[in-house]
Amino acid sequence: MKLEGIHHITAITADAQSNVDFYAGVMGLRLVKKTVNQDNPTVYHLFFADEKGSAGSDLTFFEFPGVPPGRAGAGDVHRIVWRVGSHQSLDFWEERLAVNGIESDRAGGGLRFADPEGLAHELALVEVGDEPLIADHPEVPADLALRGFHAVCAYSAAPETSQTLLEALEFESIDEGSWEARGSSRGGLYVYESPPEERSRQGAGSVHHVAWASTIDEHEQWRDRAISAGAQPTPVIDRFYFRSIYFREPSGVLFEIATLGPGFTVDEPLEHLGEKLSLPPDYEHLRAEVEPNLRPVINPRS
Ligand code: ZN
Repeated sequence: MKLEGIHHITAITADAQSNVDFYAGVMGLRLVKKTVNQDNPTVYHLFFADEKGSAGSDLTFFEFPGVPPGRAGAGDVHRIVWRVGSHQSLDFWEERLAVNGIESDRAGGGLRFADPEGLAHELALVEVGDEPLIADHPEVPADLALRGFHAVCAYSAAPETSQTLLEALEFESIDEGSWEARGSSRGGLYVYESPPEERSRQGAGSVHHVAWASTIDEHEQWRDRAISAGAQPTPVIDRFYFRSIYFREPSGVLFEIATLGPGFTVDEPLEHLGEKLSLPPDYEHLRAEVEPNLRPVINPRS
């Protein structure tokens, strides 16, 4: 039993439209679902991914309109590392980001930058056999596009306190402070770095949680594993597009374990993903109240 790498990463935005402009416009991802936060259905939950809405490429945002900028500290994921396929890809993104007013840095062989709200990203050249998870975008050639997640980097003052739990979840230690969850089709890394002195403050540009991918069949067993290692997971929650459990790992990072399926085509066809506001069945009766209060979002793709 192994987790199949990163399922999705959820962060916070203060403005859904500029968020869509950046991720679907500049970064070339596909807006694959436009729905509401199931714990607060008055606000958007936006999902960006590859063309098929695959786990492993799915970056999601809760919109809290006007929320002040956050600051990453101990217990936070503070950088998202994406795979790209070539040096030409790094050159392409360096130039494309610059044209769009985003500064970037060549660091450690990759390209680092932050989105307009301060969420940090790195594009990394990674040689791995995993399927590249690519979205179609008229300005981004497929061979230069983002290929899905490689890693999340988290701040921890005491990463050794997380070892027992990570081992129970079958993460493998690959380096000082680096762990890998690699299943039969996909892998993803979890990397600890030393935290800054300033305390964490959640806000725009903050990562809210990272979800690791489980097969549907093994999901309940991961919950038992987490409990056996001292974590306190929630009951299984049906998120309609997948099922989830949540718990905080000892370094303070909020983990989710989410199922690979049923997926985003459960309520709209693949070719029309993300075009209209999707409400899970339990929320459909709220549509008349919820939809008029959400500021319309224009997708640059349409
Ligand atoms: Zn989640």
